[in-house]
Amino acid sequence: MSGDSMNSEKSSTATRLLIIGAPGAGKGTQAARLAEIFGIPAISTGDIFRSNIAAGTELGKKVQAIVESGSYVPDSVTNELVRDRLTESDTAAGFLLDGYPRTTDQVAELDKLLTASGLKLDAVIQLEADVDEVVTRLRARALEQGRADDTEEVLRHRQDVYAEQTAPLIDVYGSRGLVVAVDGLGAVDEVTERIVSALAAH
Ligand code: ADP
Repeated sequence: MSGDSMNSEKSSTATRLLIIGAPGAGKGTQAARLAEIFGIPAISTGDIFRSNIAAGTELGKKVQAIVESGSYVPDSVTNELVRDRLTESDTAAGFLLDGYPRTTDQVAELDKLLTASGLKLDAVIQLEADVDEVVTRLRARALEQGRADDTEEVLRHRQDVYAEQTAPLIDVYGSRGLVVAVDGLGAVDEVTERIVSALAAH
């Protein structure tokens, strides 16, 4: 694919999605599958931060303590990261953003980026999950993957930060008629099917 990622000719067939849900709702798992189904890149800010931390890059050093505490990285840092990522040529087909935007400031930045390129979001997938179920899942993942931001105390903090800063985005996108709410409980395949048919109905 050529470098004209923001080419308006391509925008008519491209698919641009966001996936929003509480930590542990299964966004990452579903994002990878949806990316494959729609032929678009899944862009996870959390994954980008974690791989930079693992590789010991400047960005990684800057955000490590914040990510491991379960707080949000400053909007200026995250916005710049996404701005750069969305200029890469693979986004000509569209994208699925997982974990961005997470604050109203990030919504404003994404709006600005898309408007500047004459592009629009197609839908915002809201992956719903019961808090108890989510905490059980995250504890299991912490044991499997040893994620430093998955300790009990940090988990609770991450749920609080989500409720306070990110849950309100559902109303913002809801008022634009973009939200597609899907129950995130059940087998992984089942949830993927639910999302795909909910998007088709949207
Ligand atoms: P999960 O999918 O478990 O909710 P992520 O992997 O998306 O978590 O994110 C892990 C951490 O990375 C967050 O707790 C936060 O510190 C940081 N992070 C990821 N995305 C953002 C964002 N859009 N804004 C600020 N911080 C972010």
